[in-house]
Amino acid sequence: MKYKRILLKLSGEALMGNRQYGIDPERLSEYAKDIKEITETGVEVAIVIGGGNIFRGVAGASNGMDRVQGDHMGMLATVINGLALQSALEDAGVPTRLQTAIHIEEVAEPFIRRRALRHLEKGRVVIFGGGTGNPYFTTDSAAVLRAIEIEADVILKGTRVDGIYNADPEKDSKAIKFDHISFDDVLRKGLKVMDTTAFTLSQENELPIIVFDMNKKGNLLKVVSGENIGTKVNL
Ligand code: UDP
Repeated sequence: MKYKRILLKLSGEALMGNRQYGIDPERLSEYAKDIKEITETGVEVAIVIGGGNIFRGVAGASNGMDRVQGDHMGMLATVINGLALQSALEDAGVPTRLQTAIHIEEVAEPFIRRRALRHLEKGRVVIFGGGTGNPYFTTDSAAVLRAIEIEADVILKGTRVDGIYNADPEKDSKAIKFDHISFDDVLRKGLKVMDTTAFTLSQENELPIIVFDMNKKGNLLKVVSGENIGTKVNL
């Protein structure tokens, strides 16, 4: 395997499958199978999960809700998704731990870096819920932060498109996909990979990001084994 320790970022929306809201159990179990496949190769896996399928603080704020209150709801949404993913992984026979950035100790462990590292070394998948624990951040920022903290080799951003294009491939049929692109070029061309805070944190810490299509079976294993199927962003 090309990578020894990875951080997989899954958006909340990815868990919806074809639904408009919430969690699609079939999609979840497909993801669990793909994740199981890579753990069996000995790769250490940490996951940051989003909450957009349930609640986003910005959406709440646009309806008049206090933004911080909304962000707290969003962070709790990521914990709900984390519990669902944990359950799907354990159904598939994968040992897991859920660690949260906000304390909900009856439900999940608090985030403790050393403990997370120990779980990874023991072959457990560690799911990080609750984002960064702070309002005004996103789970992309949480993904980069946790990846740096646990010294992951790479962030794998599983999406429904198969990489980064020079235009939106869902709107422009002539859009061209990049195999590799530098952090600087992403910024120069104004491409959207992650929000700016997350992206800059990744760049400053020289942490590569691979964007790939998570909905195609077996893709996760291909990416981890070094096949160039998505777009890799590095220096
Ligand atoms: N959130 C937050 N701080 C964080 C991470 C997330 O306040 O560090 C809140 C924020 O309201 C966000 C919501 O949780 O809209 C869900 O996270 P995100 O939008 O990143 O989920 P995704 O788009 O990946 O599903």
